[in-house]
Order: sequence, then structure tokens, then C-alpha cells
Amino acid sequence: MTAPNLILLGPPGAGKGTHAEYLEKKMGLAHISTGDILRQAVAEVTELGKKAQQYMDAGQLVPDELVIELAKERLAKPDCARGWLLDGFPRTVAQAQALTKFMAEVKIPAPLVINMVISDEEVIGRLSGRRMCRGCPTIFNVERDDIDVGDSCPVCGGEIYIRTDDQPAAVKERLQVYKRQTEPVIEYYGQRGQLVTVDVEGEQADVARCLLVAATGGEMSDE
Ligand code: ADP
Ligand code: ZN
Repeated sequence: MTAPNLILLGPPGAGKGTHAEYLEKKMGLAHISTGDILRQAVAEVTELGKKAQQYMDAGQLVPDELVIELAKERLAKPDCARGWLLDGFPRTVAQAQALTKFMAEVKIPAPLVINMVISDEEVIGRLSGRRMCRGCPTIFNVERDDIDVGDSCPVCGGEIYIRTDDQPAAVKERLQVYKRQTEPVIEYYGQRGQLVTVDVEGEQADVARCLLVAATGGEMSDE
């Protein structure tokens, strides 16, 4: 198997972060989450973070120029030679076009795009119950994991918090932004014959199995 390049597309709450971690471990890919990079920039109050924060808190997209630059810089790092997995990028057709151009310039083959499909109701339920850890990338759910703000992370002992953009008003905005700006990206890759679709509404372990099969064209399964 040659070093594959993958893109995970799907609405907020589809499980891109969780499953990207899994595919990263299974397939040895470099996991690149533009959301994680931006959140870190906000936490460290860098120039990028200062520009991005207002958009992120409101559930809106950070301007294309900023994100495209950030993604290109990250994709040029040496660890990306072993194949990469993009999570949260591209999110607009302009970002997808920029990525296509960049990959042609550095002569890497076209990525496989996995479209994660899930209903709006399920998304809203998941995001309102999502809890994050300040110390590690584990993502929790209030009901599933019986964990909430005030508890400490069972993995690393870190502080549990709720993302500002997981508050109800921002969740609604993010879903609308997704439909308006990111759904056209599905069409963009569909027309180029690079798209596979996976239903992600079921049990996490089943979804992980389906994603691994899709990501490896059936070469790897979770047995
Ligand atoms: P989710 O998929 O749960 O919405 P992410 O962690 O991927 O969360 O992204 C969080 C926020 O970071 C987005 O709402 C947006 O403001 C910003 N962001 C992340 N990736 C991009 C991108 N490719 N283009 C524009 N904004 C982005
Ligand atoms: Zn933790």
C-alpha cells in the first residue's frame, strides 16, 4: 500500500476528530485537524489565533486565505511524507481548489475523500453533549461517558470543558454554515470521482470498521 492521502468530510459532530485519531493509529498517517491547529493558536494568543477567534466562537468559518496558508504550511512538514489525513479541511470550494493546485505543484496523487453522512438531529444531540479535555485529544460525551465539567479526564487527569462553539446558538450556525459552504465541496470531489460515502450514525466501533475499509479500499479491516 502506498502512502495514502485522505480527507474526512462531514458536518460538525460527525465524528471526524474521533475517527481521524483511530485511522491515524491504524494506518500510520499524519493527522491534520485545522480546527485543532486553530484552537491551539487561539489558546496561545498568536497572530493567527487573534484573527481566528471571533469567527470560531460564533460558529463561522475562518477566512479562506488564513486557513489555506495554514494548511499548506502544515502539509509541507516532513511527517506528511508517510501519507496524511485531513480533518476539517477543505471546508469551502475555494479551499478544495487551493488544495488541488497545491498537490499538483508538489506532485502528490489526488486524495481519497470520505464523506461521513449523518442526520441533523443526531448532530445536534452529539454536539450539545460533547465535552473536551484540556490535556489530551480525547473527546467525551456527557451521557455515554458519564463525564461533565468539574470532573477530571480519566485518560490524563486534565480539565474537562465545553467548546464555546458547542453552545446551542453556535451549533445551529455551524450546521447552516456546513450546508451553505461545505456541502458544495462534496459535489466538487464527487464530480472528480474521488468520493466514497460512509454512514456514520451507528455504533462507533462499527463506523470505525466501515471507515477503515473505505480508507484502504478494502485492504485493511479491523479483525
Ligand atoms: P467541527 O467540525 O466540530 O465544527 P473543527 O474543530 O473542525 O470543528 O472546527 C472548529 C472551527 O474552526 C470551525 O467552526 C471554524 O471556525 C474553524 N475552522 C476549522 N477548519 C476550518 C477551515 N478549513 N476553514 C475555515 N474555518 C475552519
Ligand atoms: Zn485528557
